[in-house]
Parts: sequence; structure tokens; C-alpha cells
Amino acid sequence: MLALAELNPEQRLAAVHPPCSGPLLIIAGAGSGKTLTLATRLAWLVHQGADPQRLLLLTFSRRAATEMGRRAGRLLHQSLGLSAGSGPPVLPWCGTFHSVAARLLRDEAPRIGLAPGYTVLDRADAQDLLAIARQSLGLAATEKRFPMAPTALAILSRTLNTRVPLAEVLRSQYPWCAEHEAELQRLYAAFGAAKLQQQSLDFDDLLVSWWHLMQKPAMAQRIAARFDHVLVDEVQDINQLQADVLHALAAQGCTLTAVGDDAQSIYAFRGANVRHILDFPQRFDPPARVLALQRNYRSTPQVLAASNAVMEQASERYSKALWTERAGGCKPRLVTVEDEAGQARGVADAVLALRETGLALTRQAVLFRTAHHSMALELELLRRGIPFVKFGGLKFMEAAHVKDVLALLRWADNPHSRLAALRTARLVPGMGPASVKRLLDHSGPLAAFKSPAAAAGPWAELVQLMAHLRSADARWPDDLQRVIAWYRPQAERLHDDARVRLADLEQLARIAAGHASRERFITELTLDPPQSSSDEAGPPQRDEDYLILSTIHSAKGQEWNAVHVLNVVDGCLPADMATGSAAEIEEERRLLYVAMTRAKDELSLWVPQRFHVTQQRAWGDRHLYALRSRFVPPELLLHFDLLDPVVTPAGAPREAGPAAPLFDLAAALRGGWPSGAGSDDAPGTADPGQNPA
Ligand code: ATP
Ligand code: MG
Repeated sequence: MLALAELNPEQRLAAVHPPCSGPLLIIAGAGSGKTLTLATRLAWLVHQGADPQRLLLLTFSRRAATEMGRRAGRLLHQSLGLSAGSGPPVLPWCGTFHSVAARLLRDEAPRIGLAPGYTVLDRADAQDLLAIARQSLGLAATEKRFPMAPTALAILSRTLNTRVPLAEVLRSQYPWCAEHEAELQRLYAAFGAAKLQQQSLDFDDLLVSWWHLMQKPAMAQRIAARFDHVLVDEVQDINQLQADVLHALAAQGCTLTAVGDDAQSIYAFRGANVRHILDFPQRFDPPARVLALQRNYRSTPQVLAASNAVMEQASERYSKALWTERAGGCKPRLVTVEDEAGQARGVADAVLALRETGLALTRQAVLFRTAHHSMALELELLRRGIPFVKFGGLKFMEAAHVKDVLALLRWADNPHSRLAALRTARLVPGMGPASVKRLLDHSGPLAAFKSPAAAAGPWAELVQLMAHLRSADARWPDDLQRVIAWYRPQAERLHDDARVRLADLEQLARIAAGHASRERFITELTLDPPQSSSDEAGPPQRDEDYLILSTIHSAKGQEWNAVHVLNVVDGCLPADMATGSAAEIEEERRLLYVAMTRAKDELSLWVPQRFHVTQQRAWGDRHLYALRSRFVPPELLLHFDLLDPVVTPAGAPREAGPAAPLFDLAAALRGGWPSGAGSDDAPGTADPGQNPA
């Protein structure tokens, strides 16, 4: 088989590991070909006669799953000489744990007392529902400040995903909420009841429910009987529930192949723990076979050396450092700039310069710790007309108009969803708060509801639309066009920029066409939202060249020829909020490692000496002096080319002075210094005379 010949001996061994000889775990560093090996294994299994319909492929995003299917398809074409037109194998069961759980629950709904049309709540909806419960229990008014809905939801989520008792989670992670344990219990009970009443499940419910089903032998057997082979990528980021589900599937006879890198575990905040992967083999009897891959195919020796060096500073030991046979390139650059604006200009310059040498924008990426870190750069790119696509922000799905349209579709699917009904009803002109409340309490057919006279026309149209959507005549994706048609006049009335918003909705319609049914569309978009309006866009985007902007989390598993990492300073990497426990700091170090190992040929780490912080506190925004990230201590500098361009483009005079105070005096007086303690003589720090640290 041609594709197998291209793998190295270890990779080949893993790809053709006999399915009957027990589970297989491949632990290996970045760029060692784990994903490629998994895709080859998938192709090999199909080649050996496995039914693609009975393969379960679990990845960390839908995008990753599609990519894997494509890779496997290519391999099959090569090996079987299939005609290019026959397309990749159809893999109906691939996606994230949550999306697979959602589908399984939908299928099993009648057997487990669930409405098949149940709604999946995204985080924002779940928070809204929890906030309502918090209010109605009177917890919002308790004397001692009770945790807000987002915190309360995060506590619940952590408790469920780690399977650790609430009291313990409170003690170790949220000590300031510990006194509210009893009220939190009450709140969670009310929240659960509300979800039940509205036949809605949030993300955690999906996973917990799947886990519960797998604990019941008959049910576990039914579910496992759907699959022959289970393949998992990025297994380092699974949590306890997911690990248990995999274990149960394997116990029921599915063959299991999992690949991951313990040094890239970056989801502890969702309950993932490196231990799950390290302890994984021992959970099986006989233990899972563990294979390692040590050769890196992605990066130049210089990029690899710098990345390995960052990881060698970690307090926990990881799978061995990697080696590469790639020919030499240049050292990664560590670029010190004055501030974020300088960083934005510098990155834009560098990107354009590389493009001049023939490297397309799509082969270059800019990575950052948090979505808002790219703001200054986005402005600069817009100013210079450099097209870009941003991943990792959820702006598209959070936009009011997108949420409105989805609410209409959700309400059509699930008449019990008060959240969807509420959002929809508020769109009808002439429906005041009292009428909306009356509608929520209304039972019986929608047509029987007496709308206020002012709302008559649009309301009648809405009733008609809902009747159609709930009837057997509903057709996908035509339904969405009908919803948009009803929504159009509302958007024009509600928003000044309706034209832009309606264009977004056309984008949504294009995405809709790629989904089999209304239910699948809503569920999959909720679970794994397209992360930019042009993500998943159809052909019009394809031949365009654009720069990739991405959070590090969303860059997992990907690679680019040139990579820029923004804000490699303490407070950003590690993030401010992570300066608590040693474990959190270690996770931030792994994040930097993930970012650096995305680069094939060129890597630049940017260190702005001053950055701007938006704060919620009274004194507003401010500038802080930044210290180079503690993950690049002086002894690591030999791995980098140190640049200090402080370029001032012609025509743009340097600002005379800072617009805001250079440091936060009020905080300093209270002892509140910016986090991190770099050494004064390290390049990249500000003038020690002025530096508050
Ligand atoms: P990550 O940990 O970042 O997810 P990975 O271990 O999954 O990385 P891949 O993405 O599968 O690594 O591979 C990295 C790069 O190396 C890809 O461009 C892939 O095509 C290439 N590669 C992997 N194995 C080989 C090989 N045997 N021969 C040539 N190229 C290879
Ligand atoms: Mg990978």
C-alpha cells in the first residue's frame, strides 16, 4: 500500500496494529505524525474491509474531523487507485465527544424518556437559564454576595467533568464560594428542573448522559454495537468522563486507537488532566499497547530546539524530546517592540515581506493567548487592506441576528423551550413585555394565542411560519430561507446595520446547505460553532489569500510555514488569571509549546514592552510595563535571534508620550504589581528605572 510506504517504521507499526490485539495508544510530541498515522490507520482499516459507517472518529473539532476524513480519503485514492471523483469515504460518525453524544441521545431518546426534539443549550443560554433560577430562588438578593451565573455554571461544569464532589471543587478551586455550598446545591437542582421542563440539555448534560448510558450494561452494549473501531485524536485533552466512555466502548468490544501528546494538554480548565492519558494503558486488561514516535517532520531543527528547550523547563516530565532530519533554517526570532501598536506594525511588515518572497498568506499564522489580544493587529491589517480570517473568537455565533434566527429554528423543533420562545416573541413588533409573558404561559396551539392588535400582521406570519416548520412539509435548508425571509423586516427595523447582518445570514444559509437536516445543523452549530463568519464558507472564499489569526487553543493540531506568537509577556503568557497554582502555570507553558510547534520554517515570538489592559475596576484602562514571559528565561536566549527593531514607519511619527499613566499607581500603593518577576537585565524588559517590577 503506497501510503504505508511513506510512513516511518514506528508509524507503520501503529497504522497496521492488528485490531484484535487490544487497544493502542500513541504518545508522541508535536509534529511527529500522530494525526497522519491515525488517518492512515483509518484508511488501512477501510482498506482491510472495515465499514466506514461503523467507524467512530473522535476529534477536538468538526473541522479536524473533516480534515481527517479528507486525509484518509486521499490515502485510499492513492492506495486503491480510486478515481478522484469518487470522494473520500463517508464517515457519518466523526466529530467531537459532545456532538457524537448529542446524536446518540437523539437516537436513543425514546428509550430513555427524552424528547427527540430536545434542544441543546449553548453556554450563553445555559447561563441565562441558570440566572433565572438564581433570581427566582432569591439567591441574587442574599446578603453575602452569591456567585454570579457564569461562576456558578463553571463550578457545576467542573464538578461534573472531573467527577469530583462539589464540596471538594469548592474547597480547591473556588474557596471564596465554599460558604454557599448548600445554596449552590439548591440552585443546581432548580436549574436541572428548568432544563427538564424545557426539554433542553446543556453541553455537560450531553457528556454526563452519554457516560450514564455507558454504565448500564444493556445500553452500553447497544451503543457499542454500532461501532467496530474507535479512533481518537488529541487524547491528552479528554476528561474523566470521556476517558470512562472510551473505556466502556473498548470493554464492549470496540477496538480503540488513541493518539496524543502529554506535553500539549491545554484544557485543564475543562477538567482535562494529563493523568488520563498517562494512566490510560493500565485501565485495560491486558494493558493498551503504547507506541512512541520521536521524529518530528514539521519543523526546522532551530524551531524544534527552541520548543524543546521551553518544554525542558517544565516541572513534569514529558515524552522524550523530538529530533528532526529537516535541513537547517534560521533561528526563531524574539522581537522586542515598544508596544502593541509596534507589534501590530511589525507583524504586518513581516507578513507582507514573506508574501513578497512567494509565501501565501494562508501559510502564515498569528497566534495569541486570548481572542482580544489580536485587536490592535486586526486594525492594522484592516488599515493596510491585508485580508485575514480569525479563529477562536465566537463573534459570529454570538451576534444577535444569528442568535435570533437560531432561536426561531429551535422553537420550531422544541415548543417547550421558553428561552427560544422568549427570544422569538421579542422580535415581533407590537409585542410588549406583558404580551410576551402571556405567550410564555400560553398552552395550546399557537394560532389560538391572542396577540395585541399592534402585532397582528407579523404575528400571523410567524404563526404560519411555525406551523410550516413543524409540519411534514418542512424541507432543509429551505426552512432557513423562510425564517430569514420573516426575519428580514425585523432586522431592518431593529438594526441600523441590517445590510451587514443580512449578509451574515446568507453566510449562515451557505453553511446550512452543508448539513443534512435542521436538527443536525442546529445541534452541530451549537456544539461546535463556526469560529468566524468565513469559516466553512463555500467556494467564494477558497481561492482568496488571507492571513490566519487564531487563539492558541484553536490552533491545535495545525501547522503553518511561518508563525508569529503575540504578547509573549508575563500577564499574557502566562495569562494573568493563571498566576495562581503551579499546575495552571504549567498549562500555560504547554500553551506556548503548542504555539511554537505550529511553525514549520519561521517562528517569531513578539515581546511588546508596554501593553494595554482593559479593566473592570474603577480607574479604567491602563498601560502596563511588560516583562518577557518567564517561559523564555535568559538561559534560553541562545536559541533565538534577538531583534529590537523599534521601527517607525515613514510618515507615522512616534507618539510624544503615553496617553495613559505608565503604570497603575493606585494598585502599586496597595502592593498590586503586574504579575511575574523577570530579571532587570533581561532584554525585553523596560528601563529598570521606570519599571515598577
Ligand atoms: P500535532 O501534535 O501538532 O497534532 P502530529 O503529531 O499530529 O502533530 P501531523 O500533523 O500528523 O503531526 O504531522 C506533522 C507534519 O509532518 C505533517 O505535515 C505531516 O504530513 C508530516 N509527516 C508526518 N509523518 C511523515 C512522514 N513519515 N513522512 C513525511 N512527512 C510526514
Ligand atoms: Mg495532530
